[in-house]
Amino acid sequence: MFMALDISTTLKSILNRISGKEARHHTPEKKIRPVEKRNRGEAERKSKNPAEEKGRHTKFSELDLPSHILASIEKVGYEKLTPIQEATYSIIMAGRDLCALAETGSGKTAACSIPLVQKINISKNTIQGLVIVPTRELCLQYVDEIEKIGAGAGVVSFAVFGGFSKEIQTAKINHGVHILVATPGRLIDLMYDGVISLSNVTCVTLDEADELLQEGFLEDIEFILSCILNEHQTLLFAATMDDDISKLSHNYLHDPEYISLIRERVAPVSIEHYFNYLHPGRKETELAQYLAAEDINQAIIFCNARHKVDKLFRDMRKKHTAIEYIHAGLSQNKRSSIFRQFKTKKLRYLIATDVAGRGLDFTNVSHVINWDLPFDGAQYTHRTGRSGRMGKKGRAFTFVTRHDLPKLRELIRTQKITPRWVGKDPLKGTKTLSKEKTTPKKRAYRHSGKKKAGTIHRDKSTR
Ligand code: ADP
Ligand code: MG
Repeated sequence: MFMALDISTTLKSILNRISGKEARHHTPEKKIRPVEKRNRGEAERKSKNPAEEKGRHTKFSELDLPSHILASIEKVGYEKLTPIQEATYSIIMAGRDLCALAETGSGKTAACSIPLVQKINISKNTIQGLVIVPTRELCLQYVDEIEKIGAGAGVVSFAVFGGFSKEIQTAKINHGVHILVATPGRLIDLMYDGVISLSNVTCVTLDEADELLQEGFLEDIEFILSCILNEHQTLLFAATMDDDISKLSHNYLHDPEYISLIRERVAPVSIEHYFNYLHPGRKETELAQYLAAEDINQAIIFCNARHKVDKLFRDMRKKHTAIEYIHAGLSQNKRSSIFRQFKTKKLRYLIATDVAGRGLDFTNVSHVINWDLPFDGAQYTHRTGRSGRMGKKGRAFTFVTRHDLPKLRELIRTQKITPRWVGKDPLKGTKTLSKEKTTPKKRAYRHSGKKKAGTIHRDKSTR
């Protein structure tokens, strides 16, 4: 089949890479604009967000959409474009490269999927759209959105990711797929096996682009992009992107548009950020009290390591029934099942590592709890962004121990968070760490923030 060309190209590409010949970018003739100029363009565009200028959001019925796609969108329940959808739609439709930044929960999946579905020529039985995402769960979620929007138009989409039968994936791809959503590892596997050809891909999307352009994924992404030799457009979507990754992203884009709807404030604005400073030994008690006192629809409790997830789950399941845990140590079947149960609200609590930290859309999550302080600001933003989706209010609750204080200061500064303290504010009036006590005194359980006083009951328990 068409595989022969792809594999020889692939091998050539590997040899070139080994000999250091291959350029980083995927189109050899591509010109890279100097960073300064690009940045200026970026700033200009920021102030020209069409959605803000108009002051109202366009309805999908006002776009020139094919009727079956409009019908599908209305069936999903979308009436108006979200700001990021409004800002990117015409750029994507025009075939331009794009780097789009917008808050978590702002509708980036549909921002890509709606124009992408329109670009598919269903009379061609080939992969024309490729979406790359960092996790298996995101694969499923993404393909679900594309299916909802594109099924009426006859667009066939499919997700490939590791931990699932290659034979089944191969059979489905051989049967014909228009839009492939994939994690990098399995995609490369199937390319090597000659199952996947990218020679008809006209639109490539990297979702959670900042994650995909980081060490660990970067080589795979470069390899995949280097295998797409025909003319195509590249779209990057992200909720966070530091300067280094932003500069790096230029290597993969050709004369791109930059859209950033991320305001000065980095952490999601629809979320109230609560912190609790305590001795690590008190976490369990404080968590139990917090959960009992809050009005929780669904909550995700993030830990920084798998063994912590396991332990917390063992402890919490004694008191809670609708609770599960998820981390990369579980089989893919189990992960998918838990993911589905949580999404369909059959579970109330999910204890998780960061496999559930990015991109997953759990609209009913009212609370995100950080059992451990996240490693950095981006991780905090992604975790807490699992709540407060689509303008809903969310609440983040983060445990902080003495050891975390330097990182916490940095987090508050870089993410421009206004912290509300449950109990003592350890940053108030403490200039030096050595003066901070390891074990906080016994104290009333209360918010130090003014709003919502009384939402949490007083702690009468002692240890
Ligand atoms: P992001 O990728 O920006 O984090 P998602 O694409 O996961 O956000 O979307 C968040 C939620 O918003 C989803 O539940 C999705 O169904 C919903 N959504 C997307 N677009 C619209 C729209 N135009 N109107 C209403 N809801 C929307
Ligand atoms: Mg997303």
